[in-house]
Amino acid sequence: MTERLYEDNSYEVAFSSEVTAVKPVKGGAEVVLKETYFFPAEGGQSPDRGTLNGFPVIDVQIRDGEIFHTVGVKDGDEASVLAAFRVGQTATGQVDWEFRFRNMQMHSAEHIFSGLVHTHFGYANVGFHLSENSATMDYNGELTKEQIEALETETNRIIVEGHRITARYPSAEELKTLPYRSKKELTGPVRLVEIEGVDLCACCVPHVKSTSEIGLFKVISFERYKGGTRLHYLAGFRALSHFRECLASLGEAGQILSAKQTDIVPALRNLAAEARELRFRLTSAERELAEAAIAQYHAKRGGVAGEKLSGDALMFLSGDASVARHALDVMEELFDGTCALFIGQDSTYRYFLEHQGGTVTEIGNALKEQLSARGGGKPFSVSGSVQATEEDIRRVLSGFGLH
Ligand SMILES: [Zn+2]
Repeated sequence: MTERLYEDNSYEVAFSSEVTAVKPVKGGAEVVLKETYFFPAEGGQSPDRGTLNGFPVIDVQIRDGEIFHTVGVKDGDEASVLAAFRVGQTATGQVDWEFRFRNMQMHSAEHIFSGLVHTHFGYANVGFHLSENSATMDYNGELTKEQIEALETETNRIIVEGHRITARYPSAEELKTLPYRSKKELTGPVRLVEIEGVDLCACCVPHVKSTSEIGLFKVISFERYKGGTRLHYLAGFRALSHFRECLASLGEAGQILSAKQTDIVPALRNLAAEARELRFRLTSAERELAEAAIAQYHAKRGGVAGEKLSGDALMFLSGDASVARHALDVMEELFDGTCALFIGQDSTYRYFLEHQGGTVTEIGNALKEQLSARGGGKPFSVSGSVQATEEDIRRVLSGFGLH
């Protein structure tokens, strides 16, 4: 069993210890020490980082009480890792303090919040995950936005009050009398983490020694999860980094919008209204253009304005779905045969084939077979999409007398 020095002192990060086992693994070596300050992946939390004899510690795992430090190679030299660790010799460890302390802030904050959830609502913390990319707490009951905000405020009040945080292994007899929280049934010695006057919980993870060291707690978002609630949260320096990033993107958004940070929402509303207006005007213009193009085509084919012509029609136009529907209606008013409409640009088209009282199935099939078009419909109405040049499409349709 490796002696877990981090359990008694989560603030010490430099140490020396005897190497008790070394095993080569892919990309480095697995090193076991007599004692360690490296916290392994446990309790839903990712492991500490740092160095052993100057080599990067890329993973720390605990198996049957033994802690395995995975030490990575430096400069691609695999042999040097094994040479640097000999059983019986002393290794020097350095835990990444910045990373450790951020995790301590995050984890202690979780205990306060989970303790309050349990006290006020009786829900248990049934899941916890803390890694560099995510921090989540799961509860087996539903919490509302208002309840979460109240809990968040109370958590920050407890942080400010500076409650002492301690860890110890009570005797089996004492343990039976203590009302502590635990995610699972525990056997053997149980390490209890106490936040004075707030919470008592079974936990194997390093904590800060006073709630005031957490600085800030903030729920970022929450969702319904497995009949309960999952919360994403941040605390301490990680919260600071996050809000710094948020403010930077708000600042950038403000610059793009030429608006003060506090005026970004009204500026976005104006922009959205402007976009709607422009989209409306564009669609109106495209409809008018479509009408004019169809009328011109109709006249070229010998049609008299406003009168239906006997024959087929083929049009290439630009616009959205509403323009397409309108253009098709206009085409069907002016031509009694097959009406083929291709709407789009840059060799990407939505197509519509219609023939009231007739059939367009064969034309649709030809587009599929010869141009890998997609689509379907009824015998008199087929629609879909095709990626092909206007020239290629015209070539296929000319086979059906459409020009
Ligand atoms: Zn814990």
